[in-house]
Amino acid sequence: MFNNLSEKLDKALHVLKGHGSITEVNVAETLKEVRRALLDADVNFKIAKEFTNTVKEKALGQNVLTTLQPSQLMVKIVKDELTELMGGDAEGIDLSGDPSVILMSGLQGSGKTTFSGKLANYLKNKKTKKPLLVACDVYRPAAIDQLHVVGDQINVEVFSDKGNNDPVAIAKAGIAHAKANGFNVVIIDTAGRLAVDEAMMTEISNIHEAIEPQETLFVVDSMTGQDAVNTAKAFNDILNFDGVILTKLDGDTRGGAAISIKSVVDKPIKFIGTGEKMEAIDVFYPSRMADRILGMGDVVSLVERAQDQYDEEEARKLQKKIAKNQFGFDDFLKQIQQIKKMGNMKDLIGMIPGASKMMKGIDIDDDAFKGIEAIIHSMTPEERTNPSVINASRKKRIAKGSGTSVQEINQLLKQFTQMSKMMKMMQGGGGKRMMQMMKN
Ligand code: GDP
Repeated sequence: MFNNLSEKLDKALHVLKGHGSITEVNVAETLKEVRRALLDADVNFKIAKEFTNTVKEKALGQNVLTTLQPSQLMVKIVKDELTELMGGDAEGIDLSGDPSVILMSGLQGSGKTTFSGKLANYLKNKKTKKPLLVACDVYRPAAIDQLHVVGDQINVEVFSDKGNNDPVAIAKAGIAHAKANGFNVVIIDTAGRLAVDEAMMTEISNIHEAIEPQETLFVVDSMTGQDAVNTAKAFNDILNFDGVILTKLDGDTRGGAAISIKSVVDKPIKFIGTGEKMEAIDVFYPSRMADRILGMGDVVSLVERAQDQYDEEEARKLQKKIAKNQFGFDDFLKQIQQIKKMGNMKDLIGMIPGASKMMKGIDIDDDAFKGIEAIIHSMTPEERTNPSVINASRKKRIAKGSGTSVQEINQLLKQFTQMSKMMKMMQGGGGKRMMQMMKN
């Protein structure tokens, strides 16, 4: 996420390293680079200019009042301003209605259907919410099927009426169905077009008027940069929507949409999509995003993602197994699957402060565990529970079955043994000892 922008900003802010104070000259030099970095990331020209002007004023104004190094001061001001530009505080969604109705809008391919599913899943996991998905795309039967596939995946009911070509009627019937069947959130997925056109705008505004949703969300593909901002403006002029959903932030997004959209439409970004899987949804926190843009990572979100995947019951079982020396490859596989659910590797590494910079130039496979999983899948149940039986001939068989080499099997077995030892040590109160060791 935003690798290019992070790198360029880092370089720009580096100019001040070693300078004793912020001066008109060095601040101008730094901000010229900052502005260039923002423009390269597809940030709107006017916004980039205003941004650097504000930063300059603040930097020169605060310079004498602080004991921070000039480069630290500049990083702080840039971070604060980026946060402000992206919306200041995080904004939730309004779920006060009964049912609360959430209307999704956006162009075709923006990720509306996927996000509808993600949001339903997110709300369902909050336990107090029982969401219903409603399919209102009457032009593409495939779109209705797609929503059903998503619904099946997350175990959420989907209301649809194939053959009915009146989206307003379907939306109303969906809400009535929700009321009659105890659903307290209704998420309405609507038809998009490839570009903003009048018919689509009329249709979505008709639905909007007829159902008066608590929340109207505009979904936009962040990869489309300035176009995303222009589309947002067109939808907002008609719908006066409540919030923006930025999707596909897991790709090589340049960042322009995330940074510019709030100040152009004056509506908050509420959620982001960071992958194709149903779990790839995050609440948008401007200050955490600013941290990520500046390459400072986002440990808080990383921990939250881990917590979302944390299952107390499973954790207890695992603890027992470790204590009894029964931790096997099946457990290992489960752990890998949990990590994978947290997101793709590149994205996770980007959330660790400083890691993106350290890993620069190293190609990380999105599916970094592919080889390991193949090896474990080629083991017999006995080998998985009791790896010590894996002798030379078994290794050869496993290597053949998984398309790997005996060397790779040996490596995995070695890692596995080390990990088991370490887990045992952490359990036996060694955790504290280890933390102490790391601190020293
Ligand atoms: P819709 O036409 O607006 O309903 O868009 P879809 O939900 O069908 O999404 C279009 C494509 O984008 C699909 O292939 C999705 O899997 C993909 N997609 C949606 N959200 C994300 C995301 O956050 N990250 C990535 N990488 N792909 C996404």
